[in-house]
Amino acid sequence: MDVSQVVRLVEKEGINFIDLKVVDLWGRWRHVTLARTNFSEKIFYEGVGVDASNLGYAEVFSSDMVIIPDPETAFVETYGEDKVLSMICDVYETENMKPCPHDPRTILKKTLESIRDIADEVYLGPEYEFHVFEEVRYQVTSNKVMFEIDSLEGFWNAEETGEYFVGRKKGYHRIPPFDTLMEVRNAIVKKLLEYGIPVKYHHHEVGSCQVEIELPLIDALKAADYTMMVKHVARMVAKEFGYIVTFMPKPMFDEAGNGMHVHQFLKKNGYNIFDGDKLYNLSQEALYYIGGILKNAPALMAFTNPSTNSYRRLVPGFEAPTNAVFALANRTSAIRIPAYVKDPEKRRIEFRTIDATCNPYLGFAAMILAGVDGIRRKIDPVAEGFGPFEGDMYEKELKPLPKSLEESCRALLENHGFLTTFPKELIEHWVKVKLKEERLVNSIPHPKEYDLYFDA
Ligand code: GLN
Ligand code: MG
Ligand code: MG
Ligand code: MG
Repeated sequence: MDVSQVVRLVEKEGINFIDLKVVDLWGRWRHVTLARTNFSEKIFYEGVGVDASNLGYAEVFSSDMVIIPDPETAFVETYGEDKVLSMICDVYETENMKPCPHDPRTILKKTLESIRDIADEVYLGPEYEFHVFEEVRYQVTSNKVMFEIDSLEGFWNAEETGEYFVGRKKGYHRIPPFDTLMEVRNAIVKKLLEYGIPVKYHHHEVGSCQVEIELPLIDALKAADYTMMVKHVARMVAKEFGYIVTFMPKPMFDEAGNGMHVHQFLKKNGYNIFDGDKLYNLSQEALYYIGGILKNAPALMAFTNPSTNSYRRLVPGFEAPTNAVFALANRTSAIRIPAYVKDPEKRRIEFRTIDATCNPYLGFAAMILAGVDGIRRKIDPVAEGFGPFEGDMYEKELKPLPKSLEESCRALLENHGFLTTFPKELIEHWVKVKLKEERLVNSIPHPKEYDLYFDA
């Protein structure tokens, strides 16, 4: 939709409110809701002033900013009796009305601009894995951590005793009645289609009460916007069913974690430049792109795996990667070359490390820049020893990925030259915020510690 179409929609469709959504540093939406009477075309040029201190990056900037909605992102939600027109916003500086260089959505846009000599289109196909719970009870005090989860497919508990009860496993593509989440997935996907988001398919995942929704390969900015929408819609629809969803990378001990794998290829002049006659029908550019992602992986992961919980997922045994290597049809590697892709137009790679705790704008921008860095510097993944490998890589310490958020943050401080569109202050601020999160988590006694040491 363009500006005039949005204005007409508001006039004709009985829209009561206009909701402006903007991403914060952590990749969560914040919003401000305009009364219908306060909406006019001017919003698209003058924007709405906000106190941006809640967005997380204003500390290194000024806190007065302006948000301007992108009419192309418009979708109509229903809250009770009200029709609400929602739009995703970009953040602008108040003084000169220029895009704020710290705004994640602006960074992704600039990234796509900055690589035009190599690719004029970037296609991303994200896969969303998440858990659906019935009830979550938790309590964190200075000397106690209590956590209990109920789901239709199992019960989990992590009290001081350190007892764990889990549900059924081996749920991959499980069928009803054992797949208890068919209806809620259908409802989520129907809502996504209603909002104009293309969906490839949905299915039960390996873990108890774990599911997945996959999108086809789409333009990178849309992929990031849709990531925000998928998470929002999943939460809202699940709530109607009385469920709670989490995209947390490792919510349950000894169960499969949630990844957000991203399939990807680049196009130039309408051609998929990943198609070629080298290894696995990839082009030299595709191989260099792989080299770039794998070589920059430790630093990149500060943005693609930016939670302390991210690193609990990257352990052997659950189809999540532990090594920065590439391989054909291998789910233990950081980059998988899908063996089933025969169509040269769809020739692609899959980056499996990334998870949904990332800010999708920053995570996707960093990932694309890491790959393009490989193309610019001709980083040959084979010569660098990143593969291709075969077999189970869990047994081997080939090119170990960072084992903690602190490790990836340290790597980022050492290596961020490839992040050409990320302001230096943002990177420093990011590391500061993330190390603080890590220190906080490490300072709280872990439930298992009571079991191991309480009465020792
Ligand atoms: N859940 C796995 C991960 O954490 C992936 C499993 C799969 O998609 N087959 O990446
Ligand atoms: Mg999948
Ligand atoms: Mg999956
Ligand atoms: Mg996958």
